[in-house]
Amino acid sequence: MTAARVNKLEPEGAYHVLARAQELERQGADIIHLEIGEPDFQTPGRISSAGIEAIQADRTRYNPPRGITELREAVAKDAGARRGITIDPDEVIIAPGAKPILFFPLLALLESGDEVMYPDPGFPTYKSAIDVAGGVPVPIPLVEKNEFSFDLKVFDDLFSKKTKLIMLNSPANPTGGIMPTEDLEYIAKKAMDQECWILSDEIYSRIVYDGLEAPSIAAIPGMRERTIILDGFSKTYSMTGWRLGYGIMPKSLADKIQLLLTHSIGCTAHFTQFAGLEAITGDQSVVDEMVSEYEKRRDAVVKGLNNIPGIQCATPRGAFYAFPNVSALKMPVNELANRMLEEAGVALLPGTAFGPYGEGYLRLSYCNSLESIAEALRRFGDFVGRLS
Ligand code: PLP
Repeated sequence: MTAARVNKLEPEGAYHVLARAQELERQGADIIHLEIGEPDFQTPGRISSAGIEAIQADRTRYNPPRGITELREAVAKDAGARRGITIDPDEVIIAPGAKPILFFPLLALLESGDEVMYPDPGFPTYKSAIDVAGGVPVPIPLVEKNEFSFDLKVFDDLFSKKTKLIMLNSPANPTGGIMPTEDLEYIAKKAMDQECWILSDEIYSRIVYDGLEAPSIAAIPGMRERTIILDGFSKTYSMTGWRLGYGIMPKSLADKIQLLLTHSIGCTAHFTQFAGLEAITGDQSVVDEMVSEYEKRRDAVVKGLNNIPGIQCATPRGAFYAFPNVSALKMPVNELANRMLEEAGVALLPGTAFGPYGEGYLRLSYCNSLESIAEALRRFGDFVGRLS
């Protein structure tokens, strides 16, 4: 019998749908993939070359568990400048992907029974990490009429003496919403009054549209000492399989996370860190090009969805997801997503793959070409037409 701490774990919905889509493809079906949140661009050449050169230079060794100094220094400089804060390289932890920066800080901070607030609909790893770390998950609904930020009244009602940590994600998966500064200030005040922690997942911070920026709660005076910033290379530089991410946190916490890394993964792959160094310090126009391509796709998805009767899609301000409201179709979204895959050949996710408050919504990842997106929208429109 496995332990209670793992018995609550569930698979990520995206992998489940991908597996079924691939099975249908093996049977000859033509499927359009809008389920996985993974950039479809190649890792930029200069970054891959830096990784290859590092392997050839024998940078294939054990290295410090918190990451190589050059990369920590570059992250401190770059992430600090982008957020308007000063970061010491000793506050930076490099990890194999951003996901360990969800798990390890929770393991380091939570005592059994501590409550953790997190966005719902939200990235499924949040709840899993809270469960495994022995915390009590407290989902806070994101509401469409607030551009998918929290309902602060509900936040207030659920904030309790037991709240130890608040997870934020802006720009957000799956909604594409950006939390406004006023909401961050409100939450920051609560966190400071009660001395609780914030884990701010900013993995999509560079993927923003309409000339907007996503403010970081860490930039609010007094918040650095209680904020863990999570960010990384997967989305910004199209490097998902390289497994490279980082956390920025007070040094005393970073020292403990370093120990957890030492005794679990040992260290992050050596050569990938040199690729990461090149990613941050080299020409950033590759990022701008990818973001402007996403923006074109976003416009096409939002326009196309809003043209389908019964579907209403708010304009996402960041990340690469559309989160249309399909409640007028009067079908549970799990069933709708299944039927879209089986009957229309479009793989997408039900909002409920991100928590119960995702009912009434679908998530479409627009990490696919404009042509494929246009075809998916055509199939979606036909499918809805057949329903009525
Ligand atoms: N946070 C959010 C909101 C994500 O969507 C993802 C990946 O999908 C991650 C964190 C994890 O990033 P990584 O692949 O670098 O571990």
